Amino acid sequence: MENKTFETFGISPEIIKALTSLRYYSPTPVQEEVLPLALKKADIIVESQTGSGKTAAFGIPLCEDVVWEENKPQALILVPTRELALQIQEEIMNIGRLKRIKVTAVFGKSSFKTQKSELKQKSHIVVGTPGRVLEHLKEGTLSVEKVRTVVLDEADEMLHMGFIDQVEAIIDYLPKNRQTMLFSATMPPEVARLATFYMREDRVSVKMDQSPDNQPRIYQSYIRVSEEKKNDVLIDLLTVANPEAAIIFCNTKDVVDDVDAFLAKKGLL
Ligand code: AMP
Repeated sequence: MENKTFETFGISPEIIKALTSLRYYSPTPVQEEVLPLALKKADIIVESQTGSGKTAAFGIPLCEDVVWEENKPQALILVPTRELALQIQEEIMNIGRLKRIKVTAVFGKSSFKTQKSELKQKSHIVVGTPGRVLEHLKEGTLSVEKVRTVVLDEADEMLHMGFIDQVEAIIDYLPKNRQTMLFSATMPPEVARLATFYMREDRVSVKMDQSPDNQPRIYQSYIRVSEEKKNDVLIDLLTVANPEAAIIFCNTKDVVDDVDAFLAKKGLL
């Protein structure tokens, strides 16, 4: 299984190119397991943690499968939160950038009307929270007749947040002849039951262990620094690392204000 590349899976050059620009040079363990099955259109149950690269594990096959000329949604991804919907929208747009894949996100506490007009445009993939997706289905503002794949992401979270009835109601709207992929960090009986009811009998289960080897590499380091040198070191770090984005955590609101004022004075905000 070592040293596989994305090319090994027969992924098209425009998607490989997009992955390279995202600096995804080789698949993570969950991607190695899921990609061949997902590309074969198998129904899959994946027990895997957030941070393992699971979004691309289903995002890459979805992008491969999209037929650009088809205007109606071809895949639906259900997620527990608005933040996750936006994160997945961004990641799949990045993966599908060179195929010009359109991804629409729909979630509650946000304008229904704006989402309705977005859904009227070309939308290859829709990602959303169950409540709002169901509303669009009931209002007839989301068409699912061309959906070939449904992804239930963080299924256990959707269960804990009380969305399972809505998830089931949504699945009932979908074409019967489809691929279903279910991702969950844990497998409580209610989630397993979803799989039994809504997935094909020949579904495949993939269980990733939680070892650090199954997480993308995140480099961590620390610097010991005295109180009076903190600002200088911060400037040095920001100059040398020149990060595209960074989060600075402070222990009190006052310190947050001080650091904010200091960085603004230095022209770094
Ligand atoms: P996820 O589990 O989908 O939330 O992904 C966790 C993080 O891993 C995200 O920041 C991704 O951008 C990153 N990631 C996903 N796949 C790869 C890959 N093949 N190589 C490097 N980073 C990746």
